[in-house]
Amino acid sequence: MPLIARIALNRPLRRLFDYIIPEDIQLVAGQRVRIPFGRQQTTGLIVQTGVEPPSGVRLKPVFAAMEDWPALPEETVNLLSWASDYYQHPLGECLFTALPPALRRGRKAEEKSVEWWVASDHGDFLPANAHRQKELLEWLSQQTRGAAGSDIIRAGFTRAQLRALNDKQLIRTISPPISGSKPEAPELLARRPTLSAAQAAAAEELAAPGEGFTASLLYGITGSGKTEIYLHYLKQQLGAGDQALVLVPEINLTPQTVARFRQYFGTRIVVWHSALNDSERLTTWLKIREGEPIILIGTRSAVLLPFTGLRTIIVDEEHDSSYKQGEGFRYSGRDVAVYRAHLNRCPVILGSATPSLESVYNAEQGKYRLVKLEERAGNAAPPIISLLDIRSRPLEGGLSRPALNAIEQTLARGEQALVFVNRRGFAPVMMCFDCGHMVECPRCDTRLTYHRRDRAMRCHHCDYQTAATDHCPKCQSEAFKPVGQGTERTEDILASAFPDIPVVRVDRDSTQRKGSIQSILSQVNSGKPCVLVGTQMLAKGHDFPNVTLVVVVNADGGLFSVDFRAPEQLIQTLLQVSGRAGRGTKPGKVLVQTCHSDHPLLRTLCEGHYLDIAEQLLSERKESQFPPFRAMAIFRAEADTMEKSLQVLDAIKPLTNAPGIETWGPLPAMIARRADKHRAQLILNAQNRKRLNTLLTGVCQELDQRKLPAGVRWMIDVDPQETG
Ligand code: ADP
Ligand code: ZN
Ligand code: ZN
Repeated sequence: MPLIARIALNRPLRRLFDYIIPEDIQLVAGQRVRIPFGRQQTTGLIVQTGVEPPSGVRLKPVFAAMEDWPALPEETVNLLSWASDYYQHPLGECLFTALPPALRRGRKAEEKSVEWWVASDHGDFLPANAHRQKELLEWLSQQTRGAAGSDIIRAGFTRAQLRALNDKQLIRTISPPISGSKPEAPELLARRPTLSAAQAAAAEELAAPGEGFTASLLYGITGSGKTEIYLHYLKQQLGAGDQALVLVPEINLTPQTVARFRQYFGTRIVVWHSALNDSERLTTWLKIREGEPIILIGTRSAVLLPFTGLRTIIVDEEHDSSYKQGEGFRYSGRDVAVYRAHLNRCPVILGSATPSLESVYNAEQGKYRLVKLEERAGNAAPPIISLLDIRSRPLEGGLSRPALNAIEQTLARGEQALVFVNRRGFAPVMMCFDCGHMVECPRCDTRLTYHRRDRAMRCHHCDYQTAATDHCPKCQSEAFKPVGQGTERTEDILASAFPDIPVVRVDRDSTQRKGSIQSILSQVNSGKPCVLVGTQMLAKGHDFPNVTLVVVVNADGGLFSVDFRAPEQLIQTLLQVSGRAGRGTKPGKVLVQTCHSDHPLLRTLCEGHYLDIAEQLLSERKESQFPPFRAMAIFRAEADTMEKSLQVLDAIKPLTNAPGIETWGPLPAMIARRADKHRAQLILNAQNRKRLNTLLTGVCQELDQRKLPAGVRWMIDVDPQETG
């Protein structure tokens, strides 16, 4: 009887395919194979071998193995099988996410040699008229690590110039350095601070031995020196041959963090994020797969990579919503990390100054060890937060007089101020004061944001944009004005209020160009007086020692949202952004502008004890039976009409009828139309996660059998971050 392999494909199909294993091929789970599929060939991944052949079906044979080793080791296959079941996403697509793009497309698992050039320290004389060659030589000499041939061409030079310099032996090729790695500078290695008593105590608690798998929640207030603890912990715990994973929400925003890791561990640090190109990804993927003892600092998807010697996982800023993937395979990087540590019987540390309610709850339940660090590192004190009621105050660019005065005093003392605005662009709405018209997105149920720098009106929910006009597009009135605050508008007001001081805007628009975040950070780190204006981006992990004042332009956005997570997220953002103040030797002050200064949530914010606030929010969640007290999943539908979306969900609803499971909806989503798709949702809220999972598996299988009307798509989101 022939041997059968069960194979997963990179397609949205909730099923696997059986193939005959030819006698001359040895195959194991995790291996990539070429197989015939329909009239084509495709790449598959073996999930299982030695399967009973189904009767009455004629199977085709596998063409060939793509490597004689499994691309995904057993542990990674198990991890993704679990994730596929937990998140109800097709196994094939889950498994293929753990491969770098080149291998998904069926390329060979070997590094393509990159041609890498450096200036040599000898060579012939360059003729005086070879201007471009001279420029290229100078350019290349400035690149401390040399440059890839493709980057040289991109910088405006030609192949002919390269060849000419090579012929004169003025430049030469070497093997490319590892992405981003720099040799260790010994003087930097020596400058690590010794841990404070509080840090040392926390580090000791984290290192306390457990039975293989241990999960710890490191609650450390902003500026308490969590990064220093991670470094210390890794240094102490990692053997020379071990791998470690450090998940971070966004790498490009906080190059300082990676730099600190490099100072400690040098070339052992490797990064993983979405800005890497395909060949960099393949190179890093191969190192991880081969078990090289690297410490990988990466964003969400790094948690799915095929480590073979993983000994420790750290999830920094574990509350950050970017850990949850918003489309396709909707996994939570943090939660997968915890499961992975469990599979590997290794420790995982979740760190944050504002941990998610889920994690606080898990700590209370005794599932996580709670390690607290409630004082700031060095000589820094926690910032003092106060509310500034703006109900009857005149505002300029969203800023009240007392806030502007506070900024002025800060700058006069030679210090820096940070102004947080929760919207990029100039103003969230353009409105006609004659006819009341507001400019909306033609493709979404939202208004267009006015971007004055580019004279454009943009939708922040789809990629629609149109030119801005000076008059109302409907009645032609000139009483057509921006309403509300965006970062650009606040920037303008600050620039005219403080003409001699640099005002630096930090948002998605101002940081798009490569290297712009670096130049912004170096300006701030120079320590000279300046005002930073920006969005969420400024709340993330930055360490600006000379920022002593933080102004929150408006805190009220999340106070009355229908999303059950909104209060939690509001408090997290406010505390994180507040945490940028007073991290150095000078005390920090935070002014929160609001129209609701008597709101209980904002009042507790001023006391600044996050765990107390979390406690209060948790009791509200318990009262209203929301996660983490219940397990939640959402079926979403998108179609060319709302009617179709609702119909699909109406058909799903009876399938979800089970004891202990409540179903809400179907209802149109908060933004009911987005990029011309009409969206609706059906929320499931269950007492028991296991039962919910079994039910969902059944419903998804059933739905796959059904024929849906054309133009409708449905999706399932387990543990949704957004319920709007
Ligand atoms: P967190 O990540 O908890 O917000 P960081 O790790 O960024 O805090 O540390 C905040 C600041 O305190 C950094 O500038 C860091 O270099 C400094 N720091 C951390 N630990 C110590 C220490 N033991 N002694 C002196 N300075 C420290
Ligand atoms: Zn009008
Ligand atoms: Zn739109």
